[in-house]
Amino acid sequence: MAESNSADLMDKIVSLCKRRGFIFQSSEIYGGINGFWDYGPLGVELRKNIRDCWWNDMVRRRDDVVGLESSIIMHPKVWEASGHVGGFTDPMVDCKVSKQRFRADQIFFSPVIVDGKTVGYVTVLESERIAEELLEKAEAFKRKKAIQGKLEPVQPKDFTEAKPEEIPQIPSPATGEPGSLTPPRAFNMMFETYVGALRDESAVAYLRPETAQGMFVDFKAILDTGRVKIPFGIAQVGKSFRNEITPRNFIFRSREFEQMEMEYFIADDDDWAKWHRYWIDWCREWLISVGISAELLSEYDHAKEKLAFYSKGTTDIMFKYPFGVQELWGIAARGDYDLTQHSKASGQPMEYFDDVKKKRFVPHVIEPAVGVDRILLAILCSAYVEDQAPDEKGKMETRTVLKLHPRIAPIKVAVFPLLKNKPELVKKAQEVRDLLRPYMTVFYDEASAIGRRYRRQDEVGTPFGVTIDFDTLGEKGPELADTVTLRERDTMKQERVKISDLLGILLPRVR
Ligand code: ATP
Repeated sequence: MAESNSADLMDKIVSLCKRRGFIFQSSEIYGGINGFWDYGPLGVELRKNIRDCWWNDMVRRRDDVVGLESSIIMHPKVWEASGHVGGFTDPMVDCKVSKQRFRADQIFFSPVIVDGKTVGYVTVLESERIAEELLEKAEAFKRKKAIQGKLEPVQPKDFTEAKPEEIPQIPSPATGEPGSLTPPRAFNMMFETYVGALRDESAVAYLRPETAQGMFVDFKAILDTGRVKIPFGIAQVGKSFRNEITPRNFIFRSREFEQMEMEYFIADDDDWAKWHRYWIDWCREWLISVGISAELLSEYDHAKEKLAFYSKGTTDIMFKYPFGVQELWGIAARGDYDLTQHSKASGQPMEYFDDVKKKRFVPHVIEPAVGVDRILLAILCSAYVEDQAPDEKGKMETRTVLKLHPRIAPIKVAVFPLLKNKPELVKKAQEVRDLLRPYMTVFYDEASAIGRRYRRQDEVGTPFGVTIDFDTLGEKGPELADTVTLRERDTMKQERVKISDLLGILLPRVR
């Protein structure tokens, strides 16, 4: 990433996504709807490539993982048994004056302490610089109130840690004034709907907040197909819905998003820590294989005392987004909790019979769970570069380029006739397009000067460009006839290759 720390990198990515048809605000003509996004022509291809790579690597190329596509709306009892109806909540705070809502754990506050005495409170929203921003606000507070004495270091806490007597004194992030924030209360993030014609309690159902429960609920059915032996995994890709209190950071936190999850079932006496480590490493390697910069990745182990009681360990793979280091992929060791819960609630056994050890047990599970949209954003952040390249007249200019991995790039190759008003060039270029099209996404472009056409493709991450010129037509002699210029996006190097060799050269490089 060229400018990983620059504050405007995110703005540049958002604007590129809109301008070039990757991502639009949903329902924009009606003013948009917060937390929902549409993927345009190039965004759809990019998403599909991410999903396909994951599916190929996670399911098709392994003997021990099978696929599943369960329904989005399931029996409401699924979500009671899983604990979502009772506990899938975030702590919510209202500002009574501005009517804005906040997630309590995203509001940070500190007392302003001068000469050992608390003289007020300051607040900021979660950011990369919480302590610095709180200190700046504390200094400004002291100046404004003309308080003399020594300002002591700030003590950042999030709003869930506020004592009842502190709450009326903590300023609202919306108004900057104290007295309007409510105490935090649990807000369930599941979207409710009704199934059937009646709109009463008995018809309530939920849009799934994760795909994982499908794998637990169908565990028995998949076991009964006889295709799988422990250890094995069930994988699924699909939409999930969470009524997030504060969707933000572009597609990072949305209310409708897509997940790629896998439940890996192991024996109850197997070494769960070994499998946990195996899947953390697998996920990390996979992210690098689709073009995410290794140096922007890190790991975060959840503190044991903050884990759910059944959880043995959770590690998140973190990515350094322009707005901070955030969770990209969570890898959780969940013990036998989910299968046991569904077994109790449904009355159906969820056991596996090991016919070698002659033993029956409820398998334990390791769950790598990731969002397609968060991967897509991490890929864009890793790939966005501004460098210098010569224009038509050889003068250096800034070039925006998405250095997308060819596996992931929405368009693999662009085909250009040098001039659009020469029918022989156009005909030949269209032949090249038709030759490549059955094997990869090809974009044919004959509009404007060739340099500008290259730039347009650099900006959307097309790794290769093929130009058909007068040499192709044999005008400089028969040895160059039926050869084209193949340009590589990152190095901008051009080589002359035979049309008959093109497919053989390109195919291994884009797969
Ligand atoms: P967070 O703490 O960021 O809300 P989470 O820990 O609740 O995430 P999980 O329930 O573990 O997330 O979901 C698994 C993965 O699904 C996350 O690692 C993330 O990639 C993705 N994900 C979760 N919530 C969202 C969302 N609102 N928008 C986009 N992706 C999401």
